[in-house]
Amino acid sequence: MIPYGKHSIDDSDIASVIDVLKHQFLTQGTMVPKFEQALCDYTKALYAVAVNSATSGLHIACLALGVGPGDLVWTVPNSFVASANCARYCGADVDFVDIDPSTHNLDIAALANKLGDASHKGRLPKVLIVVHFAGLSCDMQAIRELTAPYSILLIEDAAHGLGGRYQNKKIGSCQYADLCVLSFHPVKSITTAEGGAVLTNSAVYHQQCQLLAKHGTTRDPALMQGDSEGPWYYQQVVLGYNYRLSDVHAALGLSQLSKLDAFITARQKLALRYREALADLPLRLPDAQSYQGSAWHLFMVELTQHARADVYAALHQRGVGVNVHYIPIHLQPYYQRLGFKQGDFPVAEHFYQNALTLPLYPELSEDEQSYVIKMLHEILR
Ligand SMILES: *Cc1c(COP(=O)(O)O)cnc(C)c1O
Repeated sequence: MIPYGKHSIDDSDIASVIDVLKHQFLTQGTMVPKFEQALCDYTKALYAVAVNSATSGLHIACLALGVGPGDLVWTVPNSFVASANCARYCGADVDFVDIDPSTHNLDIAALANKLGDASHKGRLPKVLIVVHFAGLSCDMQAIRELTAPYSILLIEDAAHGLGGRYQNKKIGSCQYADLCVLSFHPVKSITTAEGGAVLTNSAVYHQQCQLLAKHGTTRDPALMQGDSEGPWYYQQVVLGYNYRLSDVHAALGLSQLSKLDAFITARQKLALRYREALADLPLRLPDAQSYQGSAWHLFMVELTQHARADVYAALHQRGVGVNVHYIPIHLQPYYQRLGFKQGDFPVAEHFYQNALTLPLYPELSEDEQSYVIKMLHEILR
């Protein structure tokens, strides 16, 4: 079975991990700070906090922005559930903004409308979490311009976005966002097995995230109440979590990061080939113009004449492990119990009905891709 996504691990990655296992601290050694610095060097964000998943990162990003009970957080329905759950962890309410039918990112016009309504009703969100769907950056400048008059804070869920670009800067630069969260799950741009990071240009949010990811404890006398009692001393100053990334994982991340641009180039080449080879099939392909800076996390097509379940089954029968992204979050039973229902966000729902994610990862061979293309022609013709 050709999977829809897969990590690329080579001998240098394996050697980096073995080196930590043999010679260094397994956690809280030098690899995590090195990895954090490398993430800053790559994205040009000023600060990075490595964490054990993007889900943890989204949680502490919300907490760092002061999200709590009674607050409202907006995100998009076509994402992984973690994009919304983070607000629920903080006791906040969640609402969604529908997506643009062509980019599948947050719909700017829908956002403008919803902000107008919310402002009238006096129920504006504290935070908006945007998702760079499939690796394509949202229009962050437009989103910042719309939300700034209401002092709404912005988190980028960039789990799909590492290696992509927006306005000629790397996704993660935080030019138009308060915080940006990355994932290093094996199907994402680079992997640490499990892992993630929070990026920011704010010293205050950085300090908050560091505390929250480490039990709320600090050894920095400047952050303590009263004086340090000696070199052994630490204080817990807020309620935090153990969301640390280990040095073993960070070593893998550091090694992977050195290959990120090569991974993205490989993804771009494969995406271009799909676009050309599938052009005359009854499919809607990703819009070439808007996808220029994409990290190409996913290559998604929309079926226009066939039932998705049939095509999915036919491809799986032929060894092509296509997938579907995503079941709209608001239609999950947990969110339906909070009052959401079918019809609330029609564009995301319609996209979900027809969407199919084709295999795309750096090590997908030309022969494998040719096979996927051939099977699509066979089934859709
Ligand atoms: C993968 C993913 C997450 C969660 O990442 P983890 O590192 O597995 O916690 C969050 N948001 C989006 C959009 C994702 O694709």
